Amino acid sequence: MSSTADTSVTARTDFEPVIGLEVHVQLLTASKIFCSCSTRFGAPPNTNVCPVCLGMPGALPVLNRKAVEFATLAAMALNCRINETSIFARKNYFYPDLPKGYQISQYDKPLAEFGYIGVQTLTTGGTGEHRVKKIGITRVHLEEDAGKSLHEGFPDSHEKTAIDLNRTGVPLIEIVSEPDIATPLEAYEYLTRLKEIILYTGVSDCNMEEGSLRCDANVSVRPRGQKELGTKAEIKNVNSFRFIREALEYEIARQVEVIEAGGKIVQETRLYNSHEGKTYSMRSKEQAHDYRYFPEPDLLPLVVDEKWKADIAKTLPELPEARRARLVTDYGITEYDAQVLTVSKALADQFEAAAKAAKNPKRVANLVQGELMGRLKAKGIEIESSPISMKGVAASADLVESGAISGKMLKDLYDLSFERGKDFPEIYDEEGRPQQSSDTSALEKIIDEVLAANPRQLEQYRGGKTTMIGFFVGQVMKASKGQANPQLVNELLVKKLAAGS
Ligand SMILES: [Zn+2]
Repeated sequence: MSSTADTSVTARTDFEPVIGLEVHVQLLTASKIFCSCSTRFGAPPNTNVCPVCLGMPGALPVLNRKAVEFATLAAMALNCRINETSIFARKNYFYPDLPKGYQISQYDKPLAEFGYIGVQTLTTGGTGEHRVKKIGITRVHLEEDAGKSLHEGFPDSHEKTAIDLNRTGVPLIEIVSEPDIATPLEAYEYLTRLKEIILYTGVSDCNMEEGSLRCDANVSVRPRGQKELGTKAEIKNVNSFRFIREALEYEIARQVEVIEAGGKIVQETRLYNSHEGKTYSMRSKEQAHDYRYFPEPDLLPLVVDEKWKADIAKTLPELPEARRARLVTDYGITEYDAQVLTVSKALADQFEAAAKAAKNPKRVANLVQGELMGRLKAKGIEIESSPISMKGVAASADLVESGAISGKMLKDLYDLSFERGKDFPEIYDEEGRPQQSSDTSALEKIIDEVLAANPRQLEQYRGGKTTMIGFFVGQVMKASKGQANPQLVNELLVKKLAAGS
């Protein structure tokens, strides 16, 4: 599906969807949120556990300071107000992967509130123009993760479920959006921006395969113009942004169909089957959960005072949107390329370090834009896996800058880099560090030959068509197999043609 055209059912009917997203992000702390067990992914089942995260009677939680700092940093990056005092609460429910019988979370006094993310949306005029829409963030709160039920992978999996409690007590933030999202495409954009911002802060790896980022979507539809919200369904456990978008497309169409046929939407949790492209009812929420939240008696209120807040704020990096804008201004690159170069903080850092180290930063930007991106696109390679590194681009830029190699030679060397999967400096060495020809007498000989071989063009030039010089430069470059220094060729040609006339 195209990312620019909104072909969803909403564009065709008298109903409008209302979407809100809940995103869980695992924080990259070394230890769990209330004990010192490791958070490492992939450890043998039930090896990263202790009395605290196993929920043994009498074990007391101790809050991980780093988890608070990471959560606060993420909330700041999401433009939230940080509440000086927030309260941990017990969310009571029974589930086999929750040994305590409750999850420690935050309820009516969360860590942070009133944030937003700016997303680009298409204007409705059909002009292809974008505008930035602010999607509100209701709250960001801290909580612990539950364990994991394993329904397959064991000889007796057909009759038994295994439990791995390594994940129990791993620190999470839950980021709850306002129901401001109007289309599945906006949901996709919101999630993309959210992940990008979190990655820039470095508080999570946002690895969806490992469950470091999980998303649930609430969606309802209502007749256009109606104020009251329709009955919502919750879509849970979708493991990619693309699937979220597809699941929402399907679910909106389903709800509209039910209502148009005179039916009623049931409040329920639904799962998305990506193979069939459909959502299925998982459990009805008609008896809405009563979690009986109450304040966690074993933890003091969390206080993030002004001093601590200021210290955390100092670690806030330049965020993707601001960086993109700056790259466009500083290096004269297009918005699209700035987008590609800021896809990760690491890449943006590499680019800027290389550009600054080079003799001419703009040339580095031009080469990335003009020579690197096109080759990557043609070969379907992500920029992170580019055979030519940013340092390699900078090295090649310096060679062109000093006149050692021509633009044509650079293109050929880049082609070789992509063919052999090696970085530019290595290819340059392999090729014997070629230099473009500045041998005047050799060039003059080529020029004489070119002029002799093209008498008609020579006549046109002498007849006043001076633009013909470009043709001659091109012919000389071609005859020298791109090895000639074009500036020198130009100079020699002008001299030769002036002398001959
Ligand atoms: Zn533990």
